Amino acid sequence: MDIKVTKFGGSSLSDAAQFRKVRAIVAADPARRYVIPSAPGKRGKHDHKVTDLLYKCHALAQEQRSITEVFGLVRERYLSICTELGLTLDLNSELAEIEAQIQAGASADYTASRGEYLNGKILAAYLDFAFVDAATVIFFDAEGRFDAEKTQNVLSQELSRYPQAVIPGFYGSTPDGRIRTFSRGGSDITGAIVARGVNATLYENWTDVSGFLMADPRIVKNPKPIKEITYRELRELAYMGASVLHEEAIFPVREAKIPINIKNTNDPDAPGTLIVNDNGNLRTPGSITGIAGLKGFTIIAIEKTLMHSELGFGRKLLSVIEDHGISFEHMPSGIDTISLVIADSQLNNKLEKVLTDINRVCKPDAIEVFHDIALIATVGIGMAYTPGIAAKLFTALAEGGINVRMIDQGSSEINIIVGIENKDFEEAMRRIYHAFVPSETAPR
Ligand code: ASP
Repeated sequence: MDIKVTKFGGSSLSDAAQFRKVRAIVAADPARRYVIPSAPGKRGKHDHKVTDLLYKCHALAQEQRSITEVFGLVRERYLSICTELGLTLDLNSELAEIEAQIQAGASADYTASRGEYLNGKILAAYLDFAFVDAATVIFFDAEGRFDAEKTQNVLSQELSRYPQAVIPGFYGSTPDGRIRTFSRGGSDITGAIVARGVNATLYENWTDVSGFLMADPRIVKNPKPIKEITYRELRELAYMGASVLHEEAIFPVREAKIPINIKNTNDPDAPGTLIVNDNGNLRTPGSITGIAGLKGFTIIAIEKTLMHSELGFGRKLLSVIEDHGISFEHMPSGIDTISLVIADSQLNNKLEKVLTDINRVCKPDAIEVFHDIALIATVGIGMAYTPGIAAKLFTALAEGGINVRMIDQGSSEINIIVGIENKDFEEAMRRIYHAFVPSETAPR
């Protein structure tokens, strides 16, 4: 029988009305047997996420200040959901206990995890599913790293006892019984781990958008939705800033070849985006899957005659930036040149010192620095082995009078990255999009 693991994000469970939508979605398909909730998210622009309120409580408690007022908002949120849903579940004593623990100095991880824990209790009662505390099935090792092996063993065994269950997202426990959370947005990871643990046929990730769009809608008007994308394409786009899903959520399901469907709780009939195995269906040759980009990079261009025959040149260069604790994004090279593309956030105020050290260690003929660089990635397995893709992309940029400072094509041919000036970023995105997506479906 099919098993679907169904994760609902904070906006899908922000109030009683959203809970009703969630119950209708779960009830519509008996394969939706394991449900992972986030903590309640914002109900509107000016509202608070429960997780943020809990972190605030923790910070107040650390300063020995009272959490009564802020925790009151948390209490009120859960109690109103219970009342409006007509649940008999009484959370009062549990809320009092949690408040006391936080005030007494409980850890940040314990404090934040209670958002998912309490929401899980409510959802389990409302769906009439079993409640399985994530602390009993998701494990971290003594160093705080996720323990995949132990989790897989315990989780699959434990969940096989329940035909249907709610497992709160975001946290697990360490060998000494302490609560530990994943990084922010980590309920996506829990969902993926559970999907893998029960060998699900599908991991559904319900949020407030109907999947991924081919480009950022704040820049490109009405971009088309992405119906299907491979894990690899998604990695490329996510790396360049397109985000709907926690980056680390891909790995557990990718390994087990379980597809992910991103769906919209507020529009359940929309197909959303299906994330499939890397050798998924072939695309129309020459088509692209999506475009993403980021501003705020610096290029350090180094020139030295006969660089290519100097043994260890690359190593010396990279050791300089490593010594400064800097990681680089790309390293395109020419005959006697090599460039490092580095995020400004990495460089901070270290540029002058880095340049001095490159001069000292590598003894280049010249170094040039280009500031205010943006990167745009055009991604798609449909691009591989197709002549004319680069011509199309660069013609589109040339027609816009946009100068390309850097080009990098991954060896798999599913990604072409261009470096341009920050000021050309939006126009370049639009031009690339319209070069590849027929205009009748993408009005400008
Ligand atoms: N509630 C947590 C957060 O806001 C985890 C999650 O929603 O996935 O980061």
